[in-house]
Amino acid sequence: MPIPAAEIARVVDSYPKRPGVGTVGSHSALDVADGAVAEGLTSVVLVQAGRDATYAQYFRTLRDAGGRRRRGCVDEVWTYPKFADLASPESQERLRQRGVLLVPNRAMSSYVPLATLESDLRVPIVGARAMLRIEERTERENYYRLLESAGIPSPRAIASPDAIDRLAIVKLPHARRRLERGFFTAATAEEYRTKSRALLERGTIAADDLAQARIEEYVLGPVFNFNFFFSPLVPRTEGLELLGVDERRESNLDGMVRLPAAQQLELPAAERIPEYLVVGHGTLTVRESTLEEVFRIGEKFVDAARARYPPGILGPFCLQTCIDRDGHLTVFDVAARIGGGTNVHLALGHPYGNALYREPMSTGRRIALEIRRAAEDGRLKEIVT
Ligand code: AMP
Repeated sequence: MPIPAAEIARVVDSYPKRPGVGTVGSHSALDVADGAVAEGLTSVVLVQAGRDATYAQYFRTLRDAGGRRRRGCVDEVWTYPKFADLASPESQERLRQRGVLLVPNRAMSSYVPLATLESDLRVPIVGARAMLRIEERTERENYYRLLESAGIPSPRAIASPDAIDRLAIVKLPHARRRLERGFFTAATAEEYRTKSRALLERGTIAADDLAQARIEEYVLGPVFNFNFFFSPLVPRTEGLELLGVDERRESNLDGMVRLPAAQQLELPAAERIPEYLVVGHGTLTVRESTLEEVFRIGEKFVDAARARYPPGILGPFCLQTCIDRDGHLTVFDVAARIGGGTNVHLALGHPYGNALYREPMSTGRRIALEIRRAAEDGRLKEIVT
């Protein structure tokens, strides 16, 4: 059962004027922490024991004798035996007592069961709690359905391996590293069979996942991840902002494309199938005449999300796209929360966000600004679920 909005509203009503900004320590936590302290809020990073050094040691806030920040941006580190323990009753009570608003990231929605996030975690989330599940491709109500209802182009689905009639990408999780990808491409049914057999033998993919995999058209074109922000605190015409664009570095795909063709062909057969492990991010801008289409798609997404998952998208979201040779965008993945690549503008701000705000505006800072404004105006309940 979803947690009633009135219950979350009661919790935020008891929060102080300067709530804490909490996030799970992975993914984009540094951006969120940096943004929180830039806006004069306290950052709280929730970590799993053994995965805490980045936050507890290297980016930890250190203050001088007068209490002024001397270094770092992670004010508090709360350590749990497992990430999922952050949803235990004791932890929830502590988060509420401390006045913490949680900023969801993919680490949170991967390590804490979705059912717990939806029905048990009675701590306000800055964002659309009900939309975290749509990222799961195996769900019936997934992001493809939302894109379709929004009229946003997404890659054409291919019904079965035998229907592969063009370059296709097969999407399934990695067999052992469950949060990673076991994607592969195939242009014919035969290639699908040869490659899937090799990947099954190599232990990269599992048969059960393969049976459920989504097969879709491969869009030939560079990847642009658009980092948007939607604010319900301003008139609808001002609500949508584009902050910045990132791209991913994926191993071993990016390693392969750095090899000349002759050397690629010399790779042993088993190493010729690239994997898509995200290992870092870069920054991009987009051709200026494409921006209008980017905004059109962003607006459609906001409207469709409001209609299908009220109150709809709140705060940051990311549309991952390929742009084809006609300059058209196809959205192949959606994050209805902070995107995974926003650290590219950690502390510097995103180019478009900076142009809009006339000062450094990263995604993390934009989230904190929203929280600060909402808290000052007594409107926190409008930005949380
Ligand atoms: P995802 O897990 O959906 O974020 O996708 C991982 C990577 O696969 C992306 O960064 C793209 O490089 C690639 N990709 C996913 N879907 C498509 C598609 N339909 N066409 C081309 N590339 C894709």
